[in-house]
Amino acid sequence: MPKIKLITFDLDDTFWDIRSTIINAEMNSRKWSEDKIGRKIEWGTFEDFMKIRSQLVKEDPSLEYDLGMLRKKTIAYHVKKFFKNSKDLNKFIEDAYNFFLRERHKVTFYDDVIEVLEELSSKYRLGVLTNGNADVNKLGIGHLFDFSISSMDVKSNKPDQAHFVKARELSQVDFNETLHVGDHPVNDVLGARELGINTMWFNLNNLNWDIDNNPPIQFTKWSQFKDLVESSYGK
Ligand SMILES: [Mg+2]
Repeated sequence: MPKIKLITFDLDDTFWDIRSTIINAEMNSRKWSEDKIGRKIEWGTFEDFMKIRSQLVKEDPSLEYDLGMLRKKTIAYHVKKFFKNSKDLNKFIEDAYNFFLRERHKVTFYDDVIEVLEELSSKYRLGVLTNGNADVNKLGIGHLFDFSISSMDVKSNKPDQAHFVKARELSQVDFNETLHVGDHPVNDVLGARELGINTMWFNLNNLNWDIDNNPPIQFTKWSQFKDLVESSYGK
């Protein structure tokens, strides 16, 4: 086994639960918008919400990795009828988006994540590879990482190789000395494995690996992680 020099991490559902985070952010943002506009807004069902998003992506495929713009266009879809001119509308969208973004960063870290990252950061180089729009610098943990790469940065989503290639470029660490860690069997594990990057699967719910006959090294609690890295790849 090669010695690991760089560890890259996914964020959503790897360091915190994303579903509850986004639902809270969405609910608080809706209330914020209605309070600002002073009217009830027809938000539709969750299916409507997803349909609007996929329609917008169909019209402009770059929205697939530009989640900020996708959100702004979704906000516009719901509120534009309340505005007489585009200047006021655009100002509202900016403010609503910034409110959402603040809410989206109100995450509850899984147990031990911060402590483990602090320990690792003195021994390894650490990086972030996310398909989402969370920013470690807005979470008070940016100093623990050498770099952070989002889909916007590379105009691509994992499992495509752009995030991983960019990580190698920024760190100058080869794939075989890199370990990528994430919750998603395809986006994280297969995406990285495809390039010869070492992988570990954060498998919080202890799911079965049903992708192939080659299950990755996995863990269910962050407290297990450092020992697992050392027992797998050496101290
Ligand atoms: Mg994830």
